[in-house]
Amino acid sequence: MDSATAATTAEEMKRHCAFCLKEISGEAIKKCAKCHKRAYCSKECQTADWTPNKKNGQGHKNWCGTDYGEEDVDWAVVPVPGKGLGIVALRDIPKAYPIVVETGVDKTHPRVAELTPLNGSLEMKFHSNKYSCVGRDGVAEEVLCLRMSRVNHSCVPNADNFYDKSVKVIGTCRGLTCLLLILVQCE
Ligand SMILES: [Zn+2]
Ligand SMILES: [Zn+2]
Repeated sequence: MDSATAATTAEEMKRHCAFCLKEISGEAIKKCAKCHKRAYCSKECQTADWTPNKKNGQGHKNWCGTDYGEEDVDWAVVPVPGKGLGIVALRDIPKAYPIVVETGVDKTHPRVAELTPLNGSLEMKFHSNKYSCVGRDGVAEEVLCLRMSRVNHSCVPNADNFYDKSVKVIGTCRGLTCLLLILVQCE
């Protein structure tokens, strides 16, 4: 990263590493060299994130360079009164846009141990935080999606979740205005 890039990055708001979810800011933000959009805390996290399923990598190579939403740029995890956490749009998002793209992780992912219940087993943490997504065969599968598990549910959803190959996607059913909560169908 040259100094000009670093100066620009320092002015950018905080980001979260796409692999380990650690909050990073300024020169600590490393970007995917290909799309310059996805952020990482380290070369190690970037490498791990690139290939699907190995060491819980998201498989970013499956969608790098396509038009999709990224945390802290297009959406963010925020506190929602009475609901814990939720995901909001950070800009106006058009209809049918893949705003949140994620791959489920297993219990070996470093962030799973930090989930609630804090004193629970990894199994309990998985079950408390799992996310249901409909697979290609039409059957819902439960996986641990560290970010998607934060999305709120509503009987009047504005987004839908589905698989695109092995990647889970929350796509918008209608245009979202900036700061609108992303809502998927009630379970
Ligand atoms: Zn990281
Ligand atoms: Zn990329």
